[in-house]
Amino acid sequence: MSMRLFWHRRDLRTRDNVGLAAAAANDTVVPVFVADGDLFDAIGNRQQAFFLRGAQRLRERYRELGSDLIVRTGDPETVLPALAAEFDADGVTWNEHYRAARRNRTRRVRDSLDTDTDEYTDHVLVDPGRLDPSYPNHSQFHDDWQVAPKHGPAPEPDPADLADVTDDESIPTIQPDIELPAAGYDAASERFDAFLQEGIYSYNDTRDDLPAAAERPTQAVSRMSPYLAAGMIGIREVWRDATEIYDAVTGTDRRNVSKYRYELSWREQNYHLLYHNPDLPVENYKSMPNEIAWRDDPDDFAAWQAGATGYPLVDAGMRQLNEEGYLHNRPRQVVASFLSKHLLLDWRKGARYFTKQLIDHDPASNHGNWQWIASTGTDSVDVRIFDPVSQMSKYDDGATFVKSYVPELRDVPAGKIVDWPTLSSNERDELAPEYPDPIVGRNEGYERAQRVFEQALGKR
Ligand SMILES: Cc1cc2nc3c(=O)[nH]c(=O)nc-3n(C[C@H](O)[C@H](O)[C@H](O)COP(=O)(O)OP(=O)(O)OC[C@H]3O[C@@H](n4cnc5c(N)ncnc54)[C@H](O)[C@@H]3O)c2cc1C
Repeated sequence: MSMRLFWHRRDLRTRDNVGLAAAAANDTVVPVFVADGDLFDAIGNRQQAFFLRGAQRLRERYRELGSDLIVRTGDPETVLPALAAEFDADGVTWNEHYRAARRNRTRRVRDSLDTDTDEYTDHVLVDPGRLDPSYPNHSQFHDDWQVAPKHGPAPEPDPADLADVTDDESIPTIQPDIELPAAGYDAASERFDAFLQEGIYSYNDTRDDLPAAAERPTQAVSRMSPYLAAGMIGIREVWRDATEIYDAVTGTDRRNVSKYRYELSWREQNYHLLYHNPDLPVENYKSMPNEIAWRDDPDDFAAWQAGATGYPLVDAGMRQLNEEGYLHNRPRQVVASFLSKHLLLDWRKGARYFTKQLIDHDPASNHGNWQWIASTGTDSVDVRIFDPVSQMSKYDDGATFVKSYVPELRDVPAGKIVDWPTLSSNERDELAPEYPDPIVGRNEGYERAQRVFEQALGKR
C-alpha cells in the first residue's frame, strides 16, 4: 500500500476523524502534527497548553495502535513537503479549517506539495458549502440544517493501516496560569458519558439555571466546548449519542434532549457564517449607514476585564472567565452585552480578550456570538441590550452564582446584590466597602447605547 501523511490540526483524535478514516481506507497513514506559528499566535496561553496536552494524548493513542505521531515545529509549507519526501508519501490529507489565516496557510501548503492532496469536512455535521450562503435568522438556518444529511462517526483506523513509525521529537509544553481540565479524547468521552447519564435529561430546564451551574457545573450544562473546540471528540459521535437518547425517550426527557441537539446547531451556524464571511472576526457582519460611535475608555475596559464594574453578574462572569478559562453561556451574553452596549466599547476588544482567556475559544463561535450580542451580526432585533440587573434577578436571584465568584459580596443579602447598581452610595459602602460602585449608571448606559445604535442605523 502507498504511504499518505495525515496532517492533524483542530482534530486531535483518532476516533471519528473523517479525513484520517478516509486516508486510512486506501493508504498506510503517517500521522503528523506541526506546531506552527498560526497555532500559537491565534489563541491564548491557556488554550495553547490545553491543545498541546491534547496532542500528547493523541500521540499516546497512536503509540497504543503501534504507530506514532510525527511532531515537527516550523511552517507547514516547508515541513510537510520534507516529510512527504522522507516517508515517500504519495499524498497528504487534512480536515477543513475555517479560520481565514488557516485557509490561506492551507492554500500555501497545497501549492508547496507535489503530491496529491485531500481535504474533508470534519469539524461540523453539515458542510457549510451545502447550505445557502446566508440566512436572515437562526430558525431559517436551522430548518435547512436540520434536514441536511448527517453522517455517523468515522471509524478509528485499523492498526494495520497506520505506518510503523516512531518519533522522538517532543511535543512542546506550556505552563498555563490556571488549572486545566484533563485533555484528550478519553477525558472528553468520559465527560460526555457522565453528562449523558444525567444532565442531558434536564438540560433545557437547567441550561440557564446559574445556581445549578455553580453547584453542579458539569451536569447543568455539558462543558463539552473545550473538547469540541480542539477537536478532541468528533461532532458526529456527540450527535449520534445524543440522538440515540432522543430516539429512546418521550415527554419531558425528550424536550430536554432535543434542546441539547438544538444548541449544537448554533455552533454549526457560526461555522457557516465564518465559512461564508472569512473576515467575521474583524469586520461587522451587518452593514449600517453610519459608523457606530464606539467609545475609547481604557479604564472602563480594564474594569470590565478585571470583573470590577460594580455590576455583580458581570463581575462574577468575568472572574469565572479569568479563573477557569470558561464562562457559562448566560453570563457570557451578559458580559458581552455590557461591554458593547452599556460601556459602548468595540466588540472586537472584548472578543480579543475572550480569545486569550478562554480554553474553549472557537474562531467561529466566539466572533459569531460577539457580533450577535453587539447587534452587528445576524440577530434580527435591531438593538438588543441585556439589562444586567434584570438578568441577575431572573437567573440568579439568590446570588448563588455571584457569591461563588465575588467574595466581597458573600455577606450581603441576595436582594441587595441584585439591586446593587441602584442602591445609594452610602448603603453600598455599609454593605460591602471592598466592592466597587457601578462604573456606569444602569439607565445612562442603556440609553446611550440605544441612541448610538439608532444613529448608526440611520434612525435618528
Ligand atoms: C460572547 C460569546 C462568545 C462565545 N464564544 C464561544 C467560543 O469561543 N467557543 C464556544 O464553543 N462557544 C462560545 N460561545 C457559545 C457558548 O457560550 C458556549 O458554547 C457554551 O457556553 C459552552 O458551554 P457548554 O459546552 O457547557 O455548553 P452547553 O450548554 O452544554 O451546549 C452544548 C454545546 O452547544 C454548542 N453551543 C451552545 N450554545 C452555543 C452558541 N451560542 N454558539 C455556538 N455554540 C453553542 C457548544 O458547542 C456547546 O458545547 C460564546 C457565546 C457568547 C455569548
